[in-house]
Amino acid sequence: PGTIFVVATPIGNLGDLSPRAREVLAGVSLIAAEDTRHTGQLLQSFGVATPLTSMHEHNESRKSAALLDRVARGESIAIVSDAGTPLISDPGFDLIAAARQRNIPVIAVPGPCAAIAAISVAGLPTDRFAFEGFLASKSAARRTQLESLVAETRTLVFYEAPHRLTEVLRDMAAVLGGDRRATVSRELTKRFETTYSGSLAELAALAERDENMSRGEIVIVVTGAPEQSHDAVALDAQQLLRALLDELS
Ligand code: SAM
Repeated sequence: PGTIFVVATPIGNLGDLSPRAREVLAGVSLIAAEDTRHTGQLLQSFGVATPLTSMHEHNESRKSAALLDRVARGESIAIVSDAGTPLISDPGFDLIAAARQRNIPVIAVPGPCAAIAAISVAGLPTDRFAFEGFLASKSAARRTQLESLVAETRTLVFYEAPHRLTEVLRDMAAVLGGDRRATVSRELTKRFETTYSGSLAELAALAERDENMSRGEIVIVVTGAPEQSHDAVALDAQQLLRALLDELS
């Protein structure tokens, strides 16, 4: 068979397309793109003339079978999304899962990813983190999701739509606690790149005052819950035991 290349593309700054990404995109026989017009412009600015086909969330499972057949017959293809790394809150999962099942080679051509870029500049713990993608757009569902994360000790990473920033930060402050340290990174790699850093309560207040903060594309990074020390856990267990014994006596 041929190979499927999963190729990361810039998240705003064309200079971030790697030489290897360009080489691979120029060398394959077909590129499956989320939006062929958008990717067409990118390819044009790099002088790449490889044919494009569209693959997005609505046609992906249908499209995958046909693409896999071509690769099985010996063609190599690439998949790209509109920005950043495919499959990270972007299409590609059906294709790659099916490729793995059919033992078709899949090769990563890594590069930009907004989540990783935001964590790398946040100054919050990076040893363990949980990528949560997009939260629900309705506040009630969002609060339920956030409640399930209250005890999570890993750093949390969210993608968010700009027009929801203020209400999301307010919900986060209410559910996770206003004191938690967090960052809001907007327009990473672009002209107006800014990272705001503070407690969730401060960031929520700032978003309300400063309308620039919710312009453009946004990643929110939030410190995890404090680790409960072994001593605290042991103390809890002792208290519980005492309460149970009291009940019995
Ligand atoms: N696959 C992409 C990646 O690797 O980052 C993410 C695609 S997802 C559909 C788009 C979301 O990523 C945006 O809503 C925003 O939360 C985040 N994002 C993408 N580009 C960004 C940028 N330049 N600055 C900040 N956030 C960005």
